Amino acid sequence: MLMRIGGKEVEGIDGNWIEVKNPATGEAIDRVPGGTDEDVSSAVDTALAASDAWAKKSMRERGMILFNAARVVREQHKDLARLLTLEQGKPIHESIDEVRGFANILEFYAGISAHSSGETIRLGAAGDCMVIKEPLGVCGAIIPWNMPVLIMGWKVGPALLAGNTLVLKPASTTPLTTLKLAGILDAAGVLPGSLNIVTGSGESVGSAIVRNPQIRKVSFTGDCLTGNKIREMAAGHIKDLTLELGGSDPMIVMDDADLDKAVDGAVRGRFYNAGQTCTAVKRLYVHENIASRFIKKLQARIDSLTVGNGLATKIDIGPMNSAGQREKISQIVEETRNDKNGTILTGGYALKGTAYEKGYFYRPTLVADASPDSRLFTSEIFGPVLPVMNFPDLDTAIRLANTTRYGLGASVWTKDLTTTKRVFDDLKAGIIWVNRHLTVPPEVPFGGMNESGIGRENGQHALDSYSHTKTLFLGW
Ligand code: NAD
Repeated sequence: MLMRIGGKEVEGIDGNWIEVKNPATGEAIDRVPGGTDEDVSSAVDTALAASDAWAKKSMRERGMILFNAARVVREQHKDLARLLTLEQGKPIHESIDEVRGFANILEFYAGISAHSSGETIRLGAAGDCMVIKEPLGVCGAIIPWNMPVLIMGWKVGPALLAGNTLVLKPASTTPLTTLKLAGILDAAGVLPGSLNIVTGSGESVGSAIVRNPQIRKVSFTGDCLTGNKIREMAAGHIKDLTLELGGSDPMIVMDDADLDKAVDGAVRGRFYNAGQTCTAVKRLYVHENIASRFIKKLQARIDSLTVGNGLATKIDIGPMNSAGQREKISQIVEETRNDKNGTILTGGYALKGTAYEKGYFYRPTLVADASPDSRLFTSEIFGPVLPVMNFPDLDTAIRLANTTRYGLGASVWTKDLTTTKRVFDDLKAGIIWVNRHLTVPPEVPFGGMNESGIGRENGQHALDSYSHTKTLFLGW
């Protein structure tokens, strides 16, 4: 596939290509241009030229265009989901969820477009003020490979609705569905040049977006280390940054919890998308009164999970997205095994052999009794490995849960309101779920504390973050 600049498919200026592989088989499925600084400059110039016309449409008109695009995405969801599974690996039912989730985001922003309003401030004899929101201009978006479609929606929906134009870079391993969706948005009426997709590596295209002085805001989702590099690169310019970074979400199960529901929550929370989700359950803390019963049920559920090619039927877990991701996970589990720091209750190995072709499969893994300062608890485990630890009381659980440099999400599983209130007050996280984990609908502001990032996506918060405030002061 080619990249998209100015509503057209274009080749890269340098003539380089990046192969896109199917992580279930290791085979190349397509290729995209390996863009450079020059491609980014061309996309930014195009986005700048398109800015006025797109900003001058009413918010309602832009909302209708998003709504029309959402309708086409829903009509084509099966083909789009298939493409997403081919490039990302996730089971087809998860791809269908994600593609429909993208349509849902566009519909949400189309819905709130009817309520665009500002404020008036009356100052008596001094006059009156009218306060409105204006688009920022050209924005940049850099997205990861784990939820490429959903995260594209989180950025494209509010940025375009607010009247900005956009230059977006998908991850090198998952550019294809993004390019298809951009084509659908263009065909639905997004003005040519308002949404541009430049494919290529982070070091070339990503950093060129961050360094470009014409780009007023960069919204980045990815690893903490990359987020920090982006902050440094952006430091030379006055531009806004949203950084949606890594997480190591704790899940706390109290002894009054509905055990079956909590087991389901842990399995879905950890193993959805082969564990490659920013708000996955990455540390599980279980009250000691119920720990042995809970862990037995959990292990049985994990053992029943089927791993395989995401396009096959009845698959719970697809391959990891790349050989490199699988290697990172394998190393951490090997460290646990070699240091005898924890007991691997189930899993703990890469799946190979004919049934798994040359894909990047890893058996879902449960580890008990690892020490809280092992990498299993201190780093972000971005794969299907779940460490579990017992706790004696809520104070200890909260202390353990807060022992992290991250602060994205967290959950508590309980029927008790006092426990809920205590956890809500004392846990350091951007979103706290009760008897639930992972769900992030477009209405709900989403983002992290501490090293999990800066800023919020979704809801009115995201729309506001793609706008600046302008005041008209009337001295009568
Ligand atoms: P990554 O940081 O390696 O890559 C993310 C994007 O940044 C890719 O498009 C990549 O090409 C680009 N990039 C890489 N180096 C760059 C550079 N020097 N300059 C500019 N761009 C650069 O992250 P990843 O491995 O793709 O994604 C996984 C990470 O993303 C995990 O840490 C996960 O928790 C996090 N994540 C966070 C959220 C959230 O909303 N907080 C959501 C999803 C994923």
